[in-house]
Amino acid sequence: MAAIRGRAGRPVTLDPSTLAVSLGRPHGPGAPVNPPIGLSSTYRLGGDTIYGRDDSPTWSAFEEVLGGLEGGRALSFSSGMAAIAAVLGTVSVGGIVVAPRGAYNGTRRLLGQAAEQGRLTVRSVDISNTEETVTACEDAALLWLESPTNPQLAIADICALAPAAQMLGAAVVADNTFATPLLQRPLDMGADVVVHSVTKYLGGHSDLLMGAVVTRDDEWFDNVLTARQYGGAIPGSLEAFLALRGLRTLPVRLARAQETAGELAARLTLHPEVERVRYPGLPEHPGHDIAKSQMRGFGAMVSFDVVGGAPAADAVCEAVKLLVPATSLGGVETSIERRGRYVGEENTPPGLLRMSVGLEHVDDLWADLEQALAAVNR
Ligand SMILES: *Cc1c(COP(=O)(O)O)cnc(C)c1O
Repeated sequence: MAAIRGRAGRPVTLDPSTLAVSLGRPHGPGAPVNPPIGLSSTYRLGGDTIYGRDDSPTWSAFEEVLGGLEGGRALSFSSGMAAIAAVLGTVSVGGIVVAPRGAYNGTRRLLGQAAEQGRLTVRSVDISNTEETVTACEDAALLWLESPTNPQLAIADICALAPAAQMLGAAVVADNTFATPLLQRPLDMGADVVVHSVTKYLGGHSDLLMGAVVTRDDEWFDNVLTARQYGGAIPGSLEAFLALRGLRTLPVRLARAQETAGELAARLTLHPEVERVRYPGLPEHPGHDIAKSQMRGFGAMVSFDVVGGAPAADAVCEAVKLLVPATSLGGVETSIERRGRYVGEENTPPGLLRMSVGLEHVDDLWADLEQALAAVNR
């Protein structure tokens, strides 16, 4: 847990909403309130920073805030996939990686490529099935967790899986993109490493791509830092500045979006054109109890299956007027897409729509969804 010094010099623990605002600021009289956007590729010799691929004051400020929120030390990358590639790159050739069958498409495809090249062996599991997942961890180097998963919002029992996998010798990595550290802190639950697509909720405005890795383990930190230095997948300073600016308001953005998401999920369950709503906050969601025990909220992602499959779901995406038909998620604007349209999503139900709930008024969003769902039968 990040702490600052209190009046008596003792560390005081602050609420995440306070940390998001107060960490990562330059100190001292005359210091700017915000870190400057550092635009220098090199530094005068004799100081701590030598070259712009090693370090940057703009990334460091962002990393201090994210590290404080996750309870570890953070390293920023040029994208979520760059962060994921850096972590997977630490696995020795021939290593076994256990990963969710329903993980983010990019993660699955990167793992698939590594398997095809004979670099890694991948064991795909139903991550909501704890027994199946633990059994697969025998002799594995790494257990890759994602919870809730993208896009089916399945829940993994992180508190049970992390120690069980470690007992079998596997390191545990959690993609915390959907939950964010405000709703779930995987390092507290025993995970060794957290990865993020900063592009999504942390940045929060659909105006940048960035990724991050967070860990408490010094060896992991050094290995991932080396992977960043040699792999070179560093973020730009403008991106890091925008990501930090986004992170400042994450607590208020997420609280509002989550409230709206819960309400829309409940209304969708009653809609005749909707076959199934996938939202961990709904009592009927198979992972509801675990989500309730390990998360501080259920998030702002809602997936739902439209009656009539792919053509009906496509019709909804074409009919929305306020919601934005687009990929990606976590922005202030509500976006929607049919995930099954992409290569690699063959296991996603064809009529599934993934909705990233933003900050518009709930009734305006509902009115748009209702008229779009009505268009299915027109
Ligand atoms: C988007 C996403 C990624 C990849 O992040 P990029 O910033 O697009 O490279 C990884 N994991 C999850 C869960 C995502 O949603």
